[in-house]
Amino acid sequence: MVDKCSVLRCTNPGSGTVAGPQKVPVCAGHKALMDAGAPWDLQGRSVVMDQDLAPAVEGWQAEPSAGADGLTLSLEVAGRAEAVRVFLRQSEARALAAFITAANGEG
Ligand SMILES: [Zn+2]
Repeated sequence: MVDKCSVLRCTNPGSGTVAGPQKVPVCAGHKALMDAGAPWDLQGRSVVMDQDLAPAVEGWQAEPSAGADGLTLSLEVAGRAEAVRVFLRQSEARALAAFITAANGEG
């Protein structure tokens, strides 16, 4: 018996297996997209892609605060006319930088 594709809402039979923390079956079409570098993530045992994935960042800017210790981070997000702006305290900015450094294997 072949498991069905693990991509959310896909009803095709699985034919390939995605490498990752969990090995999940995916159909040939989704396997080809993943192999070609399409962004995807796992939510539980489901693979999320396209509209189910968080929107991509198309640009960003960081401005140190003139007042408190911290910075304002502006993210240009796909599908949004206005940038999302968040204030990061210095400790939050440091934790985010450490996470990104570790995630890139540079830590
Ligand atoms: Zn599929």
